[in-house]
Order: sequence, then C-alpha cells, then structure tokens
Amino acid sequence: MTEQEKSELYSRIQAVQERIDTAAEKVGRDPKDIILVAASKMNDAERVRTAIACGIRVCGENRVQELLDKYEQNAYAGADLQFIGTLQTNKVKYLIGKVSLIQSVGSVRLGEAIAREAEKRGIRQDILLEVNIGREAAKSGLLLEELDDAVSRLCEKKSLHIRGLMAIPPIADQTSKNLSYFTEMHQVFVDILTKKYDNVNMDYLSMGMTNDFETAIACGANMVRIGTAIFGARPYQIVSP
Ligand SMILES: *Cc1c(COP(=O)(O)O)cnc(C)c1O
Repeated sequence: MTEQEKSELYSRIQAVQERIDTAAEKVGRDPKDIILVAASKMNDAERVRTAIACGIRVCGENRVQELLDKYEQNAYAGADLQFIGTLQTNKVKYLIGKVSLIQSVGSVRLGEAIAREAEKRGIRQDILLEVNIGREAAKSGLLLEELDDAVSRLCEKKSLHIRGLMAIPPIADQTSKNLSYFTEMHQVFVDILTKKYDNVNMDYLSMGMTNDFETAIACGANMVRIGTAIFGARPYQIVSP
C-alpha cells in the first residue's frame, strides 16, 4: 500500500467511527457499547494489518479459505477475529480455535457441528444465531418461528455459548424498509433475553452494514459489520464505465 492509500484508509475508519458515535448519541446510547466489526473480505493481509494499525479492533471474515490464508500471513494480530459468512459444516473444524465468535449460525445442524468440534478441542465456542429476517429463499438463517426451538436445543450444548443474534436484511431500496426488519430483530432479541435461557447470554445484536448501520444502531444494534465504508468498494462493486 502506498502512504496515500494508508492515509485514506485511516480517514475512512475515523469517519465510520464518528458516524457510529453520532448515531449512538442521537438515541442516547454510549458509543463505546457499539462494536465495529471490519468486514475484511477481499482485502489482503496488508490492508487488514493496516486497518488494525489504524484502530480496528475486530475483523470479520466471510470465507474459510480466505481467512486461513490471511491468518497464516498473520493478518489479524492485535485484533479479535470473527466469522460472519456462510459456513458449511465440513469446514467448521478449520475455524475452531481461531475465531472468537461465529456470527452466522443459521441452523441447528450447523450449531451442533460447531458444538462437536469445540468439544473435541475442549473449548466453549461463542456463537450468534443468524435470523433470516426477510424470509429470503436464497439466504441462510433461521426463520423467526424456528428460533425458540433452536435456542432451546443449542443452549444444552456445553461447548457452545449463544451470545446473541445476527441478521442481514434484504437489500433495501429504501431505509424505511430495513427499519421495520431491524425493529423486529430487536423485539425478538429482547424476547429471548427475557426468557432467560440457561447458558445463553444475549449480549450482541449484530446488524447494520455500510448502507444502513445508522438505522440499525437506532433500532438497538450493538454490533455493526462494515466493509465498504472502511476499505472502499470491493473489486466486484466497481462497475467499469
Ligand atoms: C460484506 C459483509 C458485510 C459488510 O458489507 P458492506 O456493505 O460492504 O459494509 C457485513 N456483513 C456480512 C455478513 C458481509 O458479508
């Protein structure tokens, strides 16, 4: 990276942090309670290391192979590493011991696979349950009506620790649409919190990305996953003229 690129990355991170702070303060929340996860997919080890040097504390990766490649290059030193992408059960074993949180647990089957691997390694793996809030056929995640059953089954696994919920609402043409999804997510989050399941701590509500994180924070998100606003457009987002 050139010095110019580094300084641009620094400025974007500062700008995102300021927007988070403003969004939190606007609804009377402490900005320090909002965790910024830098969604670092398609950004190489050097860019990830630079982001960490610029103040990023948590990195979220989407693909197992990409995470392993960058992990080997020591990309994440000094930060917390989380997994936020679609996960196949046969790849779970590569993540256990490397990531502090798996945000994208969208089925009981995947939760059980994580529990088995974590048990083998003698650790307790933190997870979030992913909710398919827009009921999209192409997306993974639990439907709202499946959530209670999933929580009661997975909370029995001693090698799992449910720490909250995650959602990726449909790509919206208007913010108002996402507002209703985010509101619904917060309601469900509070519902589960109120039920006080054993072995479950509803600490994190992970929702909000570059286009909608301020709305998500207004609706109660305390974890936002931001890629583009930090790293710039990913190669496939740049439409050539
Ligand atoms: C890429 C990604 C993000 C960040 O998306 P941006 O719109 O670039 O901020 C957040 N969450 C998940 C699961 C992602 O894959």
